[in-house]
Amino acid sequence: MRPARARIDLQALRHNYRLARRLGGDRALAVVKADAYGHGAVACAQALAADVDGFGVACIEEALQLREAGIAQPIVLLEGCFDADELTLVDRHGLWPVVATEAQLQALERHPPTRPLRVWLKLDSGMHRLGFDAAGFAEAWRRLHALPGVAGVVAMTHLARADELACAHTAEQIDAFDRVCSPLPVSETSIGNSAGLLAWPRARREWVRPGLMLYGASRFDGPCAEAEELHPVLTLESRIIAVRELGPGEPVGYGGTYVTDAPTRIGVVALGYADGYPQFAPTGTPVSIDGRPGRLVGRVSMDMLTVDLSDHPQAGPGSQVQLWGDRVRVAEVAARCGGSAYQLMTGLKRVAREYRD
Ligand SMILES: *Cc1c(COP(=O)(O)O)cnc(C)c1O
Repeated sequence: MRPARARIDLQALRHNYRLARRLGGDRALAVVKADAYGHGAVACAQALAADVDGFGVACIEEALQLREAGIAQPIVLLEGCFDADELTLVDRHGLWPVVATEAQLQALERHPPTRPLRVWLKLDSGMHRLGFDAAGFAEAWRRLHALPGVAGVVAMTHLARADELACAHTAEQIDAFDRVCSPLPVSETSIGNSAGLLAWPRARREWVRPGLMLYGASRFDGPCAEAEELHPVLTLESRIIAVRELGPGEPVGYGGTYVTDAPTRIGVVALGYADGYPQFAPTGTPVSIDGRPGRLVGRVSMDMLTVDLSDHPQAGPGSQVQLWGDRVRVAEVAARCGGSAYQLMTGLKRVAREYRD
């Protein structure tokens, strides 16, 4: 069997969730959209079910997948409904929709819920993606409360730059949110995604919405002590399937982008960009070979990649190579490739997943 795998540590997932809730102080919505950032939404939701206050997903299809797997906890549709037909399913499955646009609000007014519905009303506090502006938010708040069946409204907003530790924009967004909420009888609020809740104490409200941090990664432009407590959840690994002993001046792989400058041992690893490893990871991107630091050399192929074994005389066919996980941080690999941990995680495909509880 092809040795490429993603090993997923569900204990680490639970540890990270508990960290989010401890920091947040109250309730934490575990964001499992995009198949739990590539970790498997059903498996992750089941692993968290006993602890969790609720789940966050991007769309109703993702919510129904969880309900069909027996997940009974609250589920928030983070972008709300895409059309009014979905409200029947929202009602039937007891989902909690975000209301972020006038169209979503009108749909709810035309199809009022038949059983108590909790709504998350979104303010655009400065990201300018989804959400009502300040005046529209107060008006939407009143219209929602006038609807029979609306049993509670959580006031929410989303931060655009919480990963930039010295950026004033985050405090401005939080100020804007508080200015809009303070005249309203708001009892539950939600601001922080992972970066917000890790690095910005003022973003820790009744509800926090951790996504990336659940999977053990973060992305900050400087040190963040809270993020050091995260445990990586997914280890992407494969094995060496062949070794080449090359003299100096020999090119390796497509394009001959890497040329040996001395006698070099090259290991061929059974994992490539069709598995979700970044195709343009440069020579020097860190890997771990049998538990010791190593480096990628040459261009990544679809099904294989090559590593430098010159400093790994003990390594050979069958040796374990970790591409990211507990020894190589996914965020570091992402940084080398000009991408993000979000992108690498959600881009995983083809590799077999192995869960450990
Ligand atoms: C995806 C998402 C989150 C989680 O974001 P992370 O940066 O992964 O923690 C939180 N809130 C909303 C509205 C989202 O769409």
